[in-house]
Amino acid sequence: MTDTGKQALAALIDSDLGVYTTGGFTTGEGPGLDLISPIDGELIGTVREASEGQLDAAVASARATFNERSWADDGAHRAEVLRRLADLVVDNAEQIAYLDGIEAGKVFADSVAEDVEDVAANLRFSADLISRDDGRHLQGPEGWGWVRRIPIGVVGAILPWNYPIAMLGWKVAPALAAGNAMIIKPSEDSTLSALHFASLAEQAGVPDGILHVLTGTGANIGAAMGLHPDIDVLTFTGSGPVGRSFLESSAKSNLKKVSLELGGRAAYIVDAEHAGDFDAIASDIAGAAFGTSGQNCTAASRVVFVGDDDAAFERFRSALVAAAEAVTVGDPFTDGTDIGPVINAKALDRITAWVDEAVNKGARILNTTAEVPTSGTWYPPTVIEGVPADSELGRGEIFGPLTQLLRTSSRDEAVAAINDEPYGLASTVWCEDLGTAKWWSDRIRVGTLAVNGYSEGTVATPFGGLRQSGFWGRDNGPEALETYQETMTVWIAPQ
Ligand code: NAD
Repeated sequence: MTDTGKQALAALIDSDLGVYTTGGFTTGEGPGLDLISPIDGELIGTVREASEGQLDAAVASARATFNERSWADDGAHRAEVLRRLADLVVDNAEQIAYLDGIEAGKVFADSVAEDVEDVAANLRFSADLISRDDGRHLQGPEGWGWVRRIPIGVVGAILPWNYPIAMLGWKVAPALAAGNAMIIKPSEDSTLSALHFASLAEQAGVPDGILHVLTGTGANIGAAMGLHPDIDVLTFTGSGPVGRSFLESSAKSNLKKVSLELGGRAAYIVDAEHAGDFDAIASDIAGAAFGTSGQNCTAASRVVFVGDDDAAFERFRSALVAAAEAVTVGDPFTDGTDIGPVINAKALDRITAWVDEAVNKGARILNTTAEVPTSGTWYPPTVIEGVPADSELGRGEIFGPLTQLLRTSSRDEAVAAINDEPYGLASTVWCEDLGTAKWWSDRIRVGTLAVNGYSEGTVATPFGGLRQSGFWGRDNGPEALETYQETMTVWIAPQ
């Protein structure tokens, strides 16, 4: 199963090919980056980072290739290339899933079935969109107008590690479809699948100079991209403080557009009056809260039971505990594993410290937590109750396999618990009465509201956050294409 993955790993690591740029793969000219697997804490290999000089050269090449226009002007050709790339991504599912498994602890079977498929779907969806894009035309006595959507130019993408290949797909598919050139910096915790993707892009016919992948840390290549005077739009998924820094660096440099997806504290509301099968709901919550070890910006990190019936609440709590205890934690490459490790020691230390603080202040862990391996960075699925508001867990994004159980007696209190948060990315409501479900959707203010089952929508639905969960652009849907386009008016005077 993983032989092809091991070959893909060796091809990148053994020759230290951490940079894909004009002319193909090369070695970084920056410091060495140790790649540590969260599964066992072992060194996977060392790859040298790109230097700032290599970033400058990549941006210059991207600009020159964009200006040459054959890519930007030929939407039909781009659509054809993106469809070929989608097929190659599916053909390389095992290699990609292996790289994300070994480097980021992603569950191999989930990556093959979901993340890789999502990239292919996004490439095909974006190809379809661009095939139909001919702008808007106007006509009148004042003249004749053409409102065009044109590519912005050079896109910088700074990626997270939690869904390495899927987040790359969310950015690359619309940005390339729109006709831009791109510089991608994967997270230093998950750099390899992006490099493998670059080799597929080359095979698919993405022209030399259009796509660049640079291994590097946030502090050097990431910060340099934020300040770069010739990157026109920067798209980012990650933490709030880093996202905010890009707004500052945009102001200090060339006023590049900045599109930010900054995570959340999603709630999963159970409207007890209209919720039938608590076991089925709890099982859905376990997937929403613990999938990808809770390292998901839409993870259900709070479960809000709405209702006054104490006996119903006890039944629901037992179902939730049972669902958490049924989650299988283990080797991401073993069939049947639900969740693997958390990304690194820093994340593990933070999760542990936040839970310890909450417990010291009176919170209670409800489930019997699973045994986890002692090497690598692991945290067991955890359900916690009574988290004080004045704790880190009471305020922050845990980004780990943990959910807190809350209870309100009124729907309005539950709405306030979501809308009063600085985060506004996503939430789920379980409510089997259609009219009441509409009531919830009229009041809850988040970017994505899932009803009667956790979901982030599809490649056709826009994804992004309200309030401090995001800034400006959207991933997915036709809205993502617009994030990488400018509007231009051509006005032809009557003769
Ligand atoms: P991060 O924001 O530090 O890293 C995300 C990306 O930003 C990486 O590519 C990183 O190299 C880059 N980066 C880091 N510092 C930078 C800087 N100063 N300038 C430019 N680029 C920089 O996130 P993290 O440390 O990997 O994770 C910390 C927290 O971020 C998580 O606990 C979670 O709350 C949040 N996060 C959210 C998402 C999401 O999907 N919204 C994804 C990953 C992390």
